[in-house]
Amino acid sequence: MNIHEYDKRIHWFNMQLNILKWDRDFISPVEDEYKKNELINAIAIEKHKYIINNFGTVFEENSHAYRIFYKDYLYSVGLPDELENEISNAVNKCYKYYKIAKENNDFSLVENDFYKLICLKREEIGIINVQGEDNYDKLMRYCCGDYFAEKLDFIMNTILKSITTQNIRYSEKTDFKMLSIEEMKLLYQNYGINLETIVFQEDINNSCLQLTQNDCRMTYQSHVKINAAKHEMGHILYMQNILKNEEYYVYNQPLSSVFDEAIALLYELIIDNESYFQNEQYTRTPIRIECTDILRLLHIIIRYEIERDIINDKIGVEEIKTRWNERFYELFGYEVTSDNEGILQDPHWFCGNFGYFPIYNVAFAVALIIYKILELNTANKNQILLKLKKHILSFGASKTEEEILLKLGVTDFCRDLENVFEELKNKHGGCFYTANLNNENELS
Ligand SMILES: [Zn+2]
Repeated sequence: MNIHEYDKRIHWFNMQLNILKWDRDFISPVEDEYKKNELINAIAIEKHKYIINNFGTVFEENSHAYRIFYKDYLYSVGLPDELENEISNAVNKCYKYYKIAKENNDFSLVENDFYKLICLKREEIGIINVQGEDNYDKLMRYCCGDYFAEKLDFIMNTILKSITTQNIRYSEKTDFKMLSIEEMKLLYQNYGINLETIVFQEDINNSCLQLTQNDCRMTYQSHVKINAAKHEMGHILYMQNILKNEEYYVYNQPLSSVFDEAIALLYELIIDNESYFQNEQYTRTPIRIECTDILRLLHIIIRYEIERDIINDKIGVEEIKTRWNERFYELFGYEVTSDNEGILQDPHWFCGNFGYFPIYNVAFAVALIIYKILELNTANKNQILLKLKKHILSFGASKTEEEILLKLGVTDFCRDLENVFEELKNKHGGCFYTANLNNENELS
């Protein structure tokens, strides 16, 4: 089979699935929920079958598109339909109870469904065919690519060895500027976003999804905090400006999660003069997305360690909440006082999304490196977007992360990472270790 034919068909499946899920969640969320889930599962299984039956017949073997499809094939090939179906049902149920648990600030309301989902995810990751040292390594090679997966421990160790909350002076200022939807749209327009192609939808989380190049869906919380609005803005700028590729549909989706997230974090935390990050103020908050400074990286470390140990079966599902709260206390020096401040704050795991949290820290490292190399500190809004387009977005997903970074002159990612952290340390003193490195906390 011609790879373009394969590409078209996969694109068709993805479109159907995304549109149906949006319809289920927001157009008519209550009626026929069960039937809609059944339909979604049936299409997902059709796609799965299509991949297994057809990928082996695709002629071409050298393009980047082929490599993307190959990875998906490896993920799908050993996965039984029944397990896929079971996971999909478990995700639907778990997310439904997650929303109820969050409303009531009570983890016990979703606990059992959550544990069930984790066990199924362990099983799924255990049988995927991607090579890796252990199950979590396999998952990361699938989620963030080999290039970054190989550097993951180094990145996390560098963060853990560098950042401390000891002797930190937290800022008094904890109030966030809140935006109405109109104010948010105005902000987006000012930063060069084309509002015509976005559908806005109120929800309990902020997120965005690209259906096609000209159809982006964004969910926002009723009172959207300015930093959260800017984060999603970065994602939208990424989606709207990655190069439209006439040749392959597979390139028209932001496939490089690391760069997609890096642009979001750049806009949220780094390039803006208003951000706490730039003003050397530290927010005392157990909520990850309310933390607008370098301590955000420690919030991710907690999630990274837990999901790594959970996927590798090193800790039991029932230990998650306790592990979270204990590790939070160790790293931040104060207690999490409710489930909404702890385990329930992020939706990722409750949607079955394991392997994404580490991407935030990898992306943060990439964002810092991009910021320095492209000299974004001296550029205005328009210049920043132009530079990002020229050096990153124009490649869409047609170049690998490594190739994009190499073009920017990053020949040794780990060394550049150490350099940007060293510079931060000189700039911000407060949250960085200055004594000898503490090896006790080293991640293995
Ligand atoms: Zn994001």
